[in-house]
Amino acid sequence: MTDISFDGRVAIITGAGNGLGKDYALELARRGAKVVVNDLGGSGSGQGQSHNAADLVVQEIRDNGGEAVANYDSVSTRQGGAGIVQTALDAFGKVDICINNAGFLRNGRFEDLTDEQIDVIIDVHLKGAIYVAQPAYKAMRRNGYGRFLFTGSASAMFGHAWQANYAAAKGGLMGLSHIVAIEGSAYGITSNLLMPTAQSRLAAEMDAGFMEIPAFAQAVQSADYAASDGRVEVPFNTPLAVYLVSEQCTSTHGIYSQNSGRYAKVRICAADGWVAPMGSTPPSVEDVAAHWDGITDGAVAHEPLTVYDEFTAVAAAARRQGLI
Ligand code: NAD
Repeated sequence: MTDISFDGRVAIITGAGNGLGKDYALELARRGAKVVVNDLGGSGSGQGQSHNAADLVVQEIRDNGGEAVANYDSVSTRQGGAGIVQTALDAFGKVDICINNAGFLRNGRFEDLTDEQIDVIIDVHLKGAIYVAQPAYKAMRRNGYGRFLFTGSASAMFGHAWQANYAAAKGGLMGLSHIVAIEGSAYGITSNLLMPTAQSRLAAEMDAGFMEIPAFAQAVQSADYAASDGRVEVPFNTPLAVYLVSEQCTSTHGIYSQNSGRYAKVRICAADGWVAPMGSTPPSVEDVAAHWDGITDGAVAHEPLTVYDEFTAVAAAARRQGLI
């Protein structure tokens, strides 16, 4: 297969001073991209700030012969998002790629989460992604080309105890990526969501208090980790992330998972379900209870990519059930 090159491309990567973002930045630069290495330089729980994290990655890229500039703004404010994109425009004149990756954890039991724990997590993951993506989108739209990658999480899509604030924010990114993909399709802009898995420094933020939930503790203890040995490492995520922001990848509106070296598309599907008899009389609550097996049956699944696709899926289900 031809090498996938990023010559002439300009990439913004938020939170690129550590972990996943750092590895994405190094690989994109190695493949020719000019990179904005954004990082606030705080801890894994979002405390403090420093220029060190971004500076060290920029230095490493330059030492390897690549091009990069640092940006130290927080993604969590509109001003910070604008500053990050302006850094790309000032240094390199355009934005082709925007990987929204910055973030940290403040885990806790659902009923104990404070306003502060909720706000900082929504701010960095969800609002932060919007604050960076909006000005990046405008810059991409001007050139009729763009690649967005938002960083979701299995915690949101599948579930993880003691992460309600984080999962709420990461789940929101799925909706955000879908809409950027739909609107961006008119301007050569793609958008996808990646659910990475890696033993980064965030592992230290995973308070094992969640083991108090019996069914969840059982899931943690009974999981089969046979395919994971030595493969829960940051670099396993990078090939998929980098492919998704390449010119060669024209797939958009997708959700992708990387876990232990397994690369897979994750789909949002609706069951064929039970279609109530035609006519304008809605069914009763008892009708719903009586048809619960049909409503939850997954034998036939539809994957709507817009609100309107679901109308078509319902018509298909009604036909299959002999109603129309
Ligand atoms: P990490 O802590 O190694 O890297 C995250 C970086 O984001 C840090 O360098 C941090 O300084 C930076 N950052 C934090 N707040 C910022 C802000 N306001 N503005 C700019 N930079 C900021 O963690 P990681 O594991 O590499 O995580 C990267 C992303 O992947 C995060 O969004 C995380 O939630 C997500 N994620 C990670 C995993 C995993 O298993 N590691 C799983 C799912 C999702």
